[in-house]
Amino acid sequence: MNEPAALAKMLSPGMRRPYATRGGIIQIHVTRACDKACFGCTQGSNLGGKPVMITVEEFEEAVLSLKDYFGVVGVFGGNPCMHPKFPELCAILRKHIPKKRCGLWSNKLLGKGEHARKTFNPHASNFNVHLDQEAVDEFSRDWPEAYRVVKGHDTDSRHSPPFVAMLDVLPDEEIRWKLIANCDVNQEWSAMICSVPGKGLRAFFCEIAGAQAMLHADNPDWPDTGLKVEPGWWRRPMQDFAEQVRFHCHRCGVPLRRFGQFAVNGEFEEVSQTHAGIYKTKDKKRRIELVTMASAQAQTLQHMTAYIENSSATSKKAGTMGALWNSVARRALPAGVNDWLWNRRQSWSRHLHFLWGLRPVSRVQGIFGRLFKFVTKRRRR
Ligand code: SF4
Repeated sequence: MNEPAALAKMLSPGMRRPYATRGGIIQIHVTRACDKACFGCTQGSNLGGKPVMITVEEFEEAVLSLKDYFGVVGVFGGNPCMHPKFPELCAILRKHIPKKRCGLWSNKLLGKGEHARKTFNPHASNFNVHLDQEAVDEFSRDWPEAYRVVKGHDTDSRHSPPFVAMLDVLPDEEIRWKLIANCDVNQEWSAMICSVPGKGLRAFFCEIAGAQAMLHADNPDWPDTGLKVEPGWWRRPMQDFAEQVRFHCHRCGVPLRRFGQFAVNGEFEEVSQTHAGIYKTKDKKRRIELVTMASAQAQTLQHMTAYIENSSATSKKAGTMGALWNSVARRALPAGVNDWLWNRRQSWSRHLHFLWGLRPVSRVQGIFGRLFKFVTKRRRR
């Protein structure tokens, strides 16, 4: 495959993604500061250095550019609740965007539950608490509607490393284009507006491209590929983002779908030469492995973005259920049903655990128990 063929297959920010909430999501990255340091974070929240903080003015400019967007306007990080002006950002969002279209991507509310509850639609949001019980308790106390869709309370996520550049480990350009054309993030996730240090507010067709631009902002060899943020920028065709694709996609690890590490209980970080310079982790003792062409592993996941499902993957085959869900069921169902099912996955599992916990005293269990005995006895006869 070559560049024009790949671009023709890719989705521009304004194209509908039927399996995404409300048909699409565009993120506004407010900071990469985070109370966690997950292995393989796509936004570099695991890295040290001074994190970007969007200004209130920049945030409003970004929001206004998305006023007519049909999908979810996501507030993204890092953990956006770490932004010192989070209440002001919420007020701006409430002023311009209806609540049903406002999404928050957060792992912990950090005392901002009241503002978040007033501003965001939990069903247009994403809350992965990454095994943090305090975060679960805070959601339950301060934002009960969101608590129902919290995930990751008892399951670690699996993160495929985004900073193992294909350019470093995969010499065949045609294969790279083929992988880029089928990138999980482009097909299912989000474009992004972010503040690139020294350059200002920029629009990217992909949140990983934006993350690369922010993290490499000090590198004079990296071009300023972001587009000007103006009303309706997201309507531009994929061709207008060709420079971003040409530069960032080949420096990205997402299409490789590497097996990766657990987000919380990972053992080491994986990075390749292109990004080695920025990979200085918050935790100085964390092991960093340099991936080269020779050491690039064969084991991959079926679907990079199925973080929670992939936690149970022990091989490419074991990731099949998550992949099936994402590539068949999620695409086949209408967007509303799909969102409803997805958001209730966690509450179903909680209800089942609850019922299971009641079994010694429950009448339901007694009925099932008797039914089970009756059927098995009959069979034995
Ligand atoms: S930058 Fe990476 S994640 Fe984004 S579309 Fe390109 S290959 Fe996919």
